[in-house]
Amino acid sequence: MNCDSGAILVLSGPSGAGKSTLLNEVIYDIGECYFSISTTTRKIREGETNGIHYHFVGEEEFKQDIEDEMFLEYAYVHGNYYGTSIRPVKRALKAGKLVIFDIDVQGNAVVTNRLGDIATSVFVSPPQLSELKHRLEARNTDTQEVIDKRIDMAKREIQRITEYDYLIVNDNLEDAADVLRTIAKAARLKIPRSDINDFTQNWEDIE
Ligand code: ADP
Ligand code: 5GP
Repeated sequence: MNCDSGAILVLSGPSGAGKSTLLNEVIYDIGECYFSISTTTRKIREGETNGIHYHFVGEEEFKQDIEDEMFLEYAYVHGNYYGTSIRPVKRALKAGKLVIFDIDVQGNAVVTNRLGDIATSVFVSPPQLSELKHRLEARNTDTQEVIDKRIDMAKREIQRITEYDYLIVNDNLEDAADVLRTIAKAARLKIPRSDINDFTQNWEDIE
């Protein structure tokens, strides 16, 4: 993928860790950015809007998109498909924006592999598993069965924190938001390897 001057910020972490809440806190403080709206086969939750939180589609449509190679990455998470469409991401990167992904650990592995040069990854965690359970219950958007599934998944996801550049423990929201603002600034300053090579080449030419 040709990415002229944009950068990528990946946010992962257990469902209920506070990724959306944190993003909402910082979104107007981190400059021009584009939040990648994923496509999913999950059922729409109360309070969600199609085209804003996700593109909600049926399984058949999703599988067709896979076949048509529309996704930068996709994964099967908690019994549903989730995928990142390539086209809007390319457009935003070309426009020099910071592209933000809220994707799971599988998605991060693909993005790091394909676009690691311009990507910065952050794992958002609640301070404790008991707090995650509390937040999922307080959010009141999922059944107990779904919450139990998400907690099980969280135990597995947490094992993969070492694959990330940064860990944010979202205990006090304001403190966590401050850390995310700093990371977003740094993510924009990340220099692709090709640019570094050009720079060193030119630098040597002067001698
Ligand atoms: P995610 O996007 O990671 O699934 P959400 O942003 O939906 O998580 O947050 C899950 C719940 O936890 C929400 O009800 C939110 O208000 C709450 N929450 C988020 N951050 C904090 C925090 N630092 N302290 C207490 N509650 C929080
Ligand atoms: P939720 O159903 O709570 O919105 O999201 C469930 C999980 O799916 C979260 O861990 C979220 O980060 C992940 N997710 C959302 N969109 C994508 C996507 O496009 N790709 C991948 N790999 N994971 C995603």
